[in-house]
Amino acid sequence: MSTEPLELLRTVYGYDSFRGDQEAVIRHALDGGDALVLMPTGAGKSLCYQLPAMLRAGVGVVVSPLIALMHDQVGALRQLGVRAAYLNSTLQPAEAAETERQVANGQLDLLYVAPERALVPRFLDLLDRSQLALVAIDEAHCVSQWGHDFRPDYLQLAALRDRYPQVPHLALTATADVRTRGEIVERLHLRNARSFVGDFDRPNIRYTVVPKNGPRQQLLAFLQERHPDDSGIVYCLSRRNTEQVAEFLQSEGFNAAAYHAGLEADQRRATQDRFLNEEAMVVVATIAFGMGIDKPDVRFVAHLDVPKSIEAYYQETGRAGRRSARRCLDDLRAKDAMTLRQMLARSEASDEQKLIAQRKLDVLLGFCETVECRRRLMLAHLGQELAEPCGNCDTCFDEVETFDGTTAAQKALSAVARTGQRFGAGHLTDLLLGELTERMEKYGHDRLPTFGVGTELDRKQWRSVFRQLVANGLLDVDSDGYNTLQFTARSLPVLRGEQAIRLRKDPVHKKTKRKRSGERGTMTSGVANVGTFTSSSDVTLWEALRQLRTQLAQQQNVPPYVIFHDRTLHALVESRPASLDEMSQVHGIGKAKLQHYGDAVLECIRQQAQG
Ligand code: ADP
Ligand code: ZN
Repeated sequence: MSTEPLELLRTVYGYDSFRGDQEAVIRHALDGGDALVLMPTGAGKSLCYQLPAMLRAGVGVVVSPLIALMHDQVGALRQLGVRAAYLNSTLQPAEAAETERQVANGQLDLLYVAPERALVPRFLDLLDRSQLALVAIDEAHCVSQWGHDFRPDYLQLAALRDRYPQVPHLALTATADVRTRGEIVERLHLRNARSFVGDFDRPNIRYTVVPKNGPRQQLLAFLQERHPDDSGIVYCLSRRNTEQVAEFLQSEGFNAAAYHAGLEADQRRATQDRFLNEEAMVVVATIAFGMGIDKPDVRFVAHLDVPKSIEAYYQETGRAGRRSARRCLDDLRAKDAMTLRQMLARSEASDEQKLIAQRKLDVLLGFCETVECRRRLMLAHLGQELAEPCGNCDTCFDEVETFDGTTAAQKALSAVARTGQRFGAGHLTDLLLGELTERMEKYGHDRLPTFGVGTELDRKQWRSVFRQLVANGLLDVDSDGYNTLQFTARSLPVLRGEQAIRLRKDPVHKKTKRKRSGERGTMTSGVANVGTFTSSSDVTLWEALRQLRTQLAQQQNVPPYVIFHDRTLHALVESRPASLDEMSQVHGIGKAKLQHYGDAVLECIRQQAQG
């Protein structure tokens, strides 16, 4: 192999050095090994397969479910001078045929395909006739039923591994709890796959969960106090709600728009473009929004309804603060959980899927109710240990109202033990409350000493206790299909009374009186503004370069960040290169960009200098 990965990183991408595990993954793939790559969004997963695909002979096949993004990804690669193309249902037959010809003739480095396309005989025939460099499966958590975004098509992808054993297969994802990881490796038939797990901690994000109490006013106060001139995303569960909240924000003078899957494609695209290009814009959206949004200056994410799971929460909050401090206001109450449950009950999902979803929602609610560091809990869920509480989440910051939950925990654990660790929270709650249900009689549980010992708490409070016990690792939920609660290694000391535990008061269903906006007002937010310049000539140049970027983007029909990232523009303003040579040193400028846009950029800088 003549070219080194690092050299390619510099000449093609214009980056100085690899981040995190990138180089290790690339070398592993170059050696022919399979890998499971877990890195948070924005960490740079794509390079992990793009570089080996370029360095190995043949074409790298990338399976990606996000058809809407393929166009942009391929556009971005072509901007870098990489020979890339995609095959999906949006192409005309003639275009697809041309791409297929290029694959067969070895004229492509990277080929993106949708999963359903990857397995049709015509496509496999094509690969059989072509030289293959590697196979990369993006969003690999989609193969897992346990993962949050199961796609049956993905199950078939193991066939690729079986059919092309001679090349490395990489599975990549940004979200996979420990259990999902195992499923990915198994279901994609990866061989001796090495796992590369990135750092999921996002220290610059502050997590905050507050009880919902007049959400619009809470949102308004949050925006006015903290983010009057910032871009951010507000998530709602229903389409209707996104529109109403967006209107409300507009009436309060914010630059806001709604986004959901029910809007016309044109309109969605336009909103997305505005969001990418405008400085202070709030998008009020369902979770349909945000996937693949690469906007560096998103400074807050707020949830007006509970997200579906901890992974979803992690993912959605992760869309903010790529490069700056930002925080998340999270707002919820039990009603949301009920709405989610009802949506779940009505959905087409299988019973198994429904139980999994239910379980995840419970874990999330436990997370909301926790008295422990939120970041620690969230990372633990993703398989990463945080040695100390983070100091940058609401439970670390504010005093949480707690009570001595030792007795309640003992009663709950005892109920689990007495019933043989074979029942879920619903039945156990009935037991503690002394409800004489059919089941109770059937199993003779009304004769247990724990029957009716828990009347000091009501049903919702007991549910909250069980959730908190699960969230804190004192109980485990079995995946047997019934969500039965079982002991963990930490259960016995508490049951025996050897360890005290504190639980959060204020279970989410209560309309709470705690109004702590004053307190929160004292917290510093420490926003590092990427776009701040001190001199006015810097500002003028920044604006001029942005304008140039918009022009170039329109000509090429790609989003502006594909031409230059903000960070690159920023570096250009700071270094003001006077020659192509100097410009080649700037972050994010590789050979192709230098060749295509170098002169225009230099001209722009020269003009600004003259006045
Ligand atoms: P992911 O797929 O993990 O969400 P991407 O692969 O899209 O992330 O990368 C996120 C951004 O970071 C992209 O703009 C990419 O070009 C940039 N990037 C990736 N690796 C590096 C690196 N080593 N140095 C600088 N920027 C990088
Ligand atoms: Zn914390």
